[in-house]
Amino acid sequence: MTSGGRPLREAGEAALIEQIARLVGDRHPRVHIGIGDDAAVWRPRAGHELVVTTDTLIERVHFRLEWTDWATLGHKALAVNLSDIAAMGALPRLALVDLAVRGTERDRDIAEFYRGAQALARRFGVAIIGGDTTRSPLGVAISVTVIGESPLDGRHVLRRDAARPGDLIGVTGPLGLAAAGLRVLERGLKTLDGNPTMQERYHRPQPRVREALLLRRCGVRAAMDISDGLLGDLEKLCQASGVSAVVDLLRVPVPNAVKWAFPDWEEIALRGGDDYELLFTAPPAIFERVVRAFRRAGLLPPSVIGEIVDAGPAGPVIQLRDAAGRCRPAEARGYDHFRTS
Ligand SMILES: [Mg+2]
Repeated sequence: MTSGGRPLREAGEAALIEQIARLVGDRHPRVHIGIGDDAAVWRPRAGHELVVTTDTLIERVHFRLEWTDWATLGHKALAVNLSDIAAMGALPRLALVDLAVRGTERDRDIAEFYRGAQALARRFGVAIIGGDTTRSPLGVAISVTVIGESPLDGRHVLRRDAARPGDLIGVTGPLGLAAAGLRVLERGLKTLDGNPTMQERYHRPQPRVREALLLRRCGVRAAMDISDGLLGDLEKLCQASGVSAVVDLLRVPVPNAVKWAFPDWEEIALRGGDDYELLFTAPPAIFERVVRAFRRAGLLPPSVIGEIVDAGPAGPVIQLRDAAGRCRPAEARGYDHFRTS
């Protein structure tokens, strides 16, 4: 989708960088040198450790320009990285944004992209302190790096390898909306029931930063964000922790909009990616504390969807338990970037 504005060839790189600096150049007290020099300078807070992550979005692998607009793309590229920082129980602080474009875009497209990223950054107190813009004739590529801070306060960052038998498994919100939204887009369907929530969820994931900080404060130690689908990501957590899991199908929170739109809604909720809710495990007493803390903060409390159990001799497995209490092993086929069918 290309709108008005000057072609990049006419606008030129210097003007483009100036425009970006204007858009994202909020003053942050700890950023001493921002966009415009060879590197940014930032003074980290004493008593904190840094948490760093990076993620790349590639045109026609992760997004299609005919389904999105530039501001939404800016939001998503930053959101998926903020989500990874949140998944560690840390606070995102700084972002570097690399944008490679064909060169046939207009300066307004690029401005919209940064405007979308900046709106989200501002909401979470994140400073976009630099990045790169280059030409990529074969398609658009976006790479974002986010640096977060985690206080050395004796509490633990949230890790994948800290789940223990006896823990309950929780998720911070409904599953399947984003994957349903992607399917709506792929099939060229009109918005179902005039309800744009599904596509909105796919395009504009909301990083669970507040929720993650609360989890950590309550004493939760094991968490990750759900980017590739519940079962695929739960399997990674179980593998890292050397434990097995039982998931109660009835307790997986699936919005009615997804159930009504797709007969295979269970598959969508279990294996569809892009929800960016947090998956965590905690002993029952800590889970109760989490529920109370979420309520006090005005957040919808997380859902219990199952429990962590000892891994048998065959190693970590995930069992799905149906309404009658029968268990069957789940095939963990989450999204795999290198598997093509
Ligand atoms: Mg992640």
